[in-house]
Amino acid sequence: MNYQDNLRELKKKISIEKLIGNKIKLERYAKTCSGPCPFHNQEYGKSLIVDLVQKNWRCYVCHIGGDSIDFTMRYYKMDYIESVLWLGRKAGINVEMIFEHRKKMEALNNLKRILQSPVLIMFKSVLVLLLPFVTLVGFFMTNWEKEDEVQHFKDVISKIIKYKIL
Ligand SMILES: [Zn+2]
Repeated sequence: MNYQDNLRELKKKISIEKLIGNKIKLERYAKTCSGPCPFHNQEYGKSLIVDLVQKNWRCYVCHIGGDSIDFTMRYYKMDYIESVLWLGRKAGINVEMIFEHRKKMEALNNLKRILQSPVLIMFKSVLVLLLPFVTLVGFFMTNWEKEDEVQHFKDVISKIIKYKIL
């Protein structure tokens, strides 16, 4: 089971009706629920609609919405990983994969940070500046060598000619 499977299982197991219904009073109509949106001042009534089939929610006044993870992030002011872990514990899902994914993401972010560090960018700039110089030196060195070879060839030819003449 990979991280994506873990996430899918998590979203399937979490009851979005309970998750949101624990915090705001929801009224159910068939396959949807509605209640006052906790993310704006609630003078517009039951503007938050929860779709129990799609397992998502949306407020038609402040135009925000998402799945159970998005609700957790907004309501409890957690970041994405914290929300996933919190919901994972709630749903009784083995969060090992999620932790592994978090470690990988952190390693990747660290690598990105290193690659974007000013020292490395400066080093890369120096390399880019040095490259034409190195190419130029290389070009001259190759040509010097060739000229030597040509010169040596000419010497040999002239010696042979001289010898024959003599
Ligand atoms: Zn709202």
